[in-house]
Amino acid sequence: MEQTATFASAGDTTVTPAAFHVMMKPRGAICNLDCKYCYFLSKEMLYPGSRFRMADDLLEEYTKQYIASQQVPVITFAWQGGEPTLMGLEFFKRAVALQQQYRRPGTKIYNAFQTNGTLLDDAWCSFFRQHDFLIGLSMDGPPELHDYYRVDKGGAPTHHKVLAAARLLQKHRVEFNILTTVHAGNVEHPLEVYCHLRDEVGTQYMQFIPIVERDNETGFQEGEAVTDRSLTGAQYGKFLTTIFDEWVRHDVGRVFVQIFDVALAAWSGQRPGLCIFEETCGNALALEHNGDLYSCDHFVEPAYRLGNIQEIPLLEMVGSDFQRQFGLDKRESLPTYCRECEVRFVCNGGCPKDRILHTPDGEPGLNFLCDGFKHFFTHIDQPMRIMAGELRAQRAPANIMRILAEEEAVMQRRFATAQRNDPCPCGSGRKFKQCHGRHIP
Ligand code: SF4
Ligand code: SF4
Repeated sequence: MEQTATFASAGDTTVTPAAFHVMMKPRGAICNLDCKYCYFLSKEMLYPGSRFRMADDLLEEYTKQYIASQQVPVITFAWQGGEPTLMGLEFFKRAVALQQQYRRPGTKIYNAFQTNGTLLDDAWCSFFRQHDFLIGLSMDGPPELHDYYRVDKGGAPTHHKVLAAARLLQKHRVEFNILTTVHAGNVEHPLEVYCHLRDEVGTQYMQFIPIVERDNETGFQEGEAVTDRSLTGAQYGKFLTTIFDEWVRHDVGRVFVQIFDVALAAWSGQRPGLCIFEETCGNALALEHNGDLYSCDHFVEPAYRLGNIQEIPLLEMVGSDFQRQFGLDKRESLPTYCRECEVRFVCNGGCPKDRILHTPDGEPGLNFLCDGFKHFFTHIDQPMRIMAGELRAQRAPANIMRILAEEEAVMQRRFATAQRNDPCPCGSGRKFKQCHGRHIP
């Protein structure tokens, strides 16, 4: 979920962002799959009796308002669900035509489209290629890990269909990234997941989204219990560091993992560019099939409904006090434990939806994934400093691979020549024979 907005004064009484993101859900939560951890499926309960189909006149109204409200030269429409392909291709042909109709001269429009891939065919892929869509394809790893939770309505596996979708996208040369949810079923298998995506699927772009799923009846972000499908913070940290260690030695510059890019931006003194790691949020909203606008895709629930774009202008809702406070709360509710944390500059306490723990001194608002974030961001500190240094010197961050290989070769030589009573080359301060050399006869 990219975030590009900056708030700028637009008048005496309102403050509106120059740009913001909206997740469009033209079929609401409706999906042809039944992924066990999906937080969207429960949202059907919000609209009893609805057909869950965005009407054409509403699509036009939204397109007009959204383009008019984006004061930037590049505008991205983001489509999600549920499963957006269930709207049918004709809907998206109309969407693209409307975008061209309302596009300001000199403005470039992109479409980002998140799909489970199971309904893609040549017609869809050719359309995506023709209109330069960026596709997000959901896949959780090799078949046995993907199919752990990602099943169809009959409980049947879906991996083979998603792989077929990836092949179709590749055949049509459509750019796509893989969105992998990390959960209890695959979190202990980081390299199987990463290598499958890199070597079998052949993707260059990956995102690893942690599943922290509240265990309650409402499906809203309330209560402190999480389901047993959720991972733990420690597991997530180990998952990320294991993949990072593989990536930083072999794949920098040819495989792009979103959280690694976010980290490099932060270590380079730039904004992370992803709402969960920004100081404040509130610029990534969600639009339901009937025009209802919500503060965030993770907060599609009555308390965060800002209004309907057929009754209140989109920009007015985005610039409302409520929405601005929603975004500022991310920083203002940060516990002291986070404020004093060494990796706060990159973590910023994570997403508010996951802040369900208490700090060691009893303050509420600590992120459920804190252990993992701290472990991961601490682990990558040294290589990130090197890559950020390469960037500052206008050299390729990929040089890290050569630098680490040279360091490791030197270290191996030191270990190979260390005598029993020498200080251990690992730097522990102990003798070699009491440290890494203790099993050497
Ligand atoms: S609540 Fe979380 S996902 Fe939503 S905008 Fe804020 S940081 Fe992003
Ligand atoms: S690592 Fe933990 S303590 Fe540090 S900022 Fe993130 S959530 Fe807060």
